[in-house]
Amino acid sequence: MAAALQIAGLEVRIGDKEILRGLDLEVPFGEIHAIMGPNGSGKSTLCHVLSGKTGYEVAGLATLAGADLLSMDVDERAREGLILGFQYPIEVPGVSLRVLMEEALDERGVTGNERITVEAERFDTTRFLERSVNDDLSGGEKKRSEIFQMAVLEPKVALLDEIDSGLDIDAVREVSEAVEAMRSPDIAIVMITHYSRILRYLSPDKIHVMMDGRIITSGGPELAEELETGGYEAIRTRLGIEKRAETVEKRPSDFFTDTPFDV
Ligand code: ADP
Ligand code: MG
Repeated sequence: MAAALQIAGLEVRIGDKEILRGLDLEVPFGEIHAIMGPNGSGKSTLCHVLSGKTGYEVAGLATLAGADLLSMDVDERAREGLILGFQYPIEVPGVSLRVLMEEALDERGVTGNERITVEAERFDTTRFLERSVNDDLSGGEKKRSEIFQMAVLEPKVALLDEIDSGLDIDAVREVSEAVEAMRSPDIAIVMITHYSRILRYLSPDKIHVMMDGRIITSGGPELAEELETGGYEAIRTRLGIEKRAETVEKRPSDFFTDTPFDV
């Protein structure tokens, strides 16, 4: 069976700025992978390009369950089973979470709301269902609601960009448990972050370290330990990778994926 997500030699640029420089990644169904990388390494760009945001020059290959992802329109990618979780989920006043889920299921040809009830129970979001989407939820509750929405929609690949950012440690634990609960033989989960602390609560099948636009090393729990003690510098030193001069540059801020404060 084809991997849920397969990326080979992915190169992404904007003008003369190279952001991804030959990224390779394979995530089989049923697994949770973490991509860890310092700010500016290209993690959000990877999410944007996979989910179909325009404005990038893209070369290389990316497939979703064997189907060519890069040739699909944004809505096609979503219908085929790719979901991107927002770093800062937006509030949608006037649209209840239940209505949002019913409409989304309807689009996919699924009727009846039993799945909504069952998953809401499982992710403890029942009391959010009749409220406007994300209205007055805490940071951790918003992330839990996002994971609940993914569980209802049953994606093939769930990309979670910095799902732990801006959360206190109890919320990080709660969100980690929700991610683990979403694990299923039919879903591949890609959890993207620059902090290693979430790995105290979540045990991904594989950890990939991303720097300067490519995956530079992959491994198991020992990589999390190395990051926790020595940070990215330790990995850079071990692999003999020089720091590139211009890693972080000024650019227009991105409402959905930028960290609004330094944490
Ligand atoms: P990360 O999510 O790992 O922090 P990003 O993908 O946001 O990294 O950014 C990677 C690099 O690409 C950074 O140097 C950033 O400044 C640059 N970059 C991202 N988006 C744009 C853009 N729209 N225009 C120019 N440069 C960009
Ligand atoms: Mg980012």
